[in-house]
Amino acid sequence: MDISLQQVGYSYAKGTPFEKKALYVVNASIKSGSYTAVIGHTGSGKSTLLLHLNGLLKPTEGVVRIGDVSITSDTKAKELKMIRRHVGIVFQFPEHQLFEETVEKDIMFGPLNFGIPEEEARQRAHELIRLLGLPEDVAQKSPFDLSGGQMRRVAIAGVLAFKPSVLILDEPTAGLDPRGRKEIMELFNKLHNEEGLTTILVTHSMEDAARYADQILVMHEGRSVMAGTPEEVFGNAEQLKSFRLGLPRSVAFQRDVEKLFGKQFGTLALTEEQ
Ligand code: ADP
Repeated sequence: MDISLQQVGYSYAKGTPFEKKALYVVNASIKSGSYTAVIGHTGSGKSTLLLHLNGLLKPTEGVVRIGDVSITSDTKAKELKMIRRHVGIVFQFPEHQLFEETVEKDIMFGPLNFGIPEEEARQRAHELIRLLGLPEDVAQKSPFDLSGGQMRRVAIAGVLAFKPSVLILDEPTAGLDPRGRKEIMELFNKLHNEEGLTTILVTHSMEDAARYADQILVMHEGRSVMAGTPEEVFGNAEQLKSFRLGLPRSVAFQRDVEKLFGKQFGTLALTEEQ
């Protein structure tokens, strides 16, 4: 499912004294099957942008196209709901939204709500428990008895249970330890590679952006200011610096970017990690 944003603007609480413009001009084109990382300083509009990609927000200006559906300020709620069936979103700290008595019920909740028969939903829940590397016996446990990393996986399974064709990830590894972070990122990479899931990742980690994404979109003060392959974007360190995005000096980043460039990255102007 191709996605595009044309001249998208968004104001929170429009028409009230609390009106706050969060997006000014955003243009982006995300091809079906691609892996896009959205980077930008805090407050640059990344989360607001994501909420437009599964119909939770409608643009106040411009057009968001998701597959065949065009969303403008006039789009009706019913059409937005259809989009949510195809575009899954993993919010920050998604485990905060777990609420059912058992892990199985939590994963089944979404599919049942969309009218999928119970047995099919249960089978899907068990497949996802395996896919996410959770022990089989978690199915009947309360999600609240699991470790933080396991709860995160259950919440992710709940999103995957819809079988979305687009997966949106808002800092999906926030708060996890380095090992948990790597495991989750590798899992998303596998889903992207093996299932052809269009993946859109908001991240503060330039390492993850360099390692996993094939396209990078840079946001700054509510505007899309750079877009391109990791080579193109990270190769322009000076411009990134002007958007308050310093490239990390970590060995892992250097190694990944060197691989992309096929040459020593040390020749590029590196800036201090934020
Ligand atoms: P990011 O995800 O890049 O940190 P956000 O999309 O969260 O950026 O925020 C963009 C701008 O919109 C910020 O100035 C932020 O304060 C504002 N904003 C975000 N959410 C709301 C909201 N619910 N109401 C009003 N303003 C908001």
